[in-house]
Amino acid sequence: MLGAMQDWSMRITHVIDHAAREAGGREIVSRWADGSETRTNWAGIRRDALKMAQALLALGVEKGERVASLAMNHSRHLVSWYGVAGMGGVLHTVNPRLFDDQLEYIVNHAEDKVLCYDAAFQPIVDRMKDRWTTVEHYICYDSGEYSQSFEDWIGEQDGDFEWVMGSETDPCMICYTSGTTGNPKGVQYEHRSTLLHAMAGLQPSSFNFNPGNVMLPVVPMFHAASWGLPYAGAMAGIKFVFSAVNDPAVLHELMLREGVTDSAGVPTVWLAHFQYCDQEGIDLPPLKTATIGGSACPRFMIERLMRNGTRVQHAWGMTETSPIGTVGGPSSDWDRLSFDEKVDKTAMQGRPIFGAELRTVDLDDMQTLLPRDGKTPGALQIRGPWVIKRYFKAQVDAITEDGWFDTGDVGIIHPDGTLQLTDRTKDVIKSGGEWISSVELENAAVGHPAIAEAAAVGIYHPKWDERPVLFVVKKEGEDISAEDVNAFLADKVAKWWLPDAVEFIDEIPHTATGKISKKDLRDRYADYKLGNGAPAVLPMTWHG
Ligand code: ADP
Repeated sequence: MLGAMQDWSMRITHVIDHAAREAGGREIVSRWADGSETRTNWAGIRRDALKMAQALLALGVEKGERVASLAMNHSRHLVSWYGVAGMGGVLHTVNPRLFDDQLEYIVNHAEDKVLCYDAAFQPIVDRMKDRWTTVEHYICYDSGEYSQSFEDWIGEQDGDFEWVMGSETDPCMICYTSGTTGNPKGVQYEHRSTLLHAMAGLQPSSFNFNPGNVMLPVVPMFHAASWGLPYAGAMAGIKFVFSAVNDPAVLHELMLREGVTDSAGVPTVWLAHFQYCDQEGIDLPPLKTATIGGSACPRFMIERLMRNGTRVQHAWGMTETSPIGTVGGPSSDWDRLSFDEKVDKTAMQGRPIFGAELRTVDLDDMQTLLPRDGKTPGALQIRGPWVIKRYFKAQVDAITEDGWFDTGDVGIIHPDGTLQLTDRTKDVIKSGGEWISSVELENAAVGHPAIAEAAAVGIYHPKWDERPVLFVVKKEGEDISAEDVNAFLADKVAKWWLPDAVEFIDEIPHTATGKISKKDLRDRYADYKLGNGAPAVLPMTWHG
């Protein structure tokens, strides 16, 4: 027998309807690339989303088809999030930092029919137009100098429209991973998965939103759904402050003037903000909460923000997980911890939010379940309603036979559920049957005042299997020797973790999303041989 509750399809149009009805007057502020500012509110976002849905149908876009955005954070991008889903379409948020070949591949692969873009990305559009074979209409978010302007385009509609309905498992957004190997892969979010992910993001142990919060998300709306913030924020009816530029001076001024309480971004964003405040001799903004993720948040960053009275939430996730898997909030023993212990705990990646389940398995056989003992590193796997099952257009599922997605990350799970990320499975170094974390080596090395960046990779070794080599970029004007580096590392990592060689190079290659590209580094140094007296003279190998 079935239960007897109402049918309420989990479509994200409910989210914008709720925000407009219950928090219609709550402001959405946008600071544009040309320095101008506009203000609207949740009722305005809904009104424009209805017009956009009509405008897309008028262009001939059909249910299930993809509409692309190539844009920074602002209210018109937010309108597109709801407008495209509201006509049954799928918003493809394109990352403007991708390389041209990737941009060509993903837009053609997604078969985007319309592309809405910021004027700042006109050079990309000019460059790519001939290579994008499916795009029929270009709309410019700012002005109509080269394409029709967004405001003129939706201004032709009256907004008298009913959202297109459908199944809650219909897709509503697609994001591509940046693809460190092979072509980028498309991850299609559903209405249901998006709604559940956003609801989970509201948990006090996660974003902890209430209507009084004012959020300035620095995490881009084009990457991994901006961590679901534009949906979670609508559910809670918070005020948003968007900036189309990431200049710390602009962000700082907006934070103070608009009473921003919460912000979210990758560590480099916070680093730039610290540097700006130091240069100007001013205090950090008085934020209540800073959510940091995308790559490991360094300890000094956590410490400085916490001393500023800001709660730091270190989050882990990936495009394939919508993206949130874990968030670091106060644990049950929080009040008993010393300041240093709180910083140590926050430096780990937090605990799973309800709906995300984690496990680790043996790195060799990828099967044996590992204990949550706070010390055994393993391949991190995840399952839940907002975790990928299959990549867009793929023929086979991307999960194990028993339904788990292998993240490619290496982690330790602690008895209280805290995740400690130690590496990527392709990068972890196996020496004499034990695992060396390349990330921990790198983090220890960049603690040296003369080191700007470091990357550790495993080199084949006949006796030990692999040994670490550390590639180091010196800070400008600094000098340092390989011996200095090893002496500095000596009390920070186990003796057998010390690199067999330290190589100084001018730059370390990065992916389009700013992460160290070990693949490019390995390709670049494929003929590398260990120097003087070192036993290994074979090309580098890696797991995979
Ligand atoms: P892209 O490579 O396109 O940036 P993702 O944003 O999906 O793709 O990257 C996800 C990966 O980023 C994770 O698998 C993990 O390796 C890394 N990552 C995310 N959050 C953290 C974190 N808090 N600490 C360390 N690594 C992280």
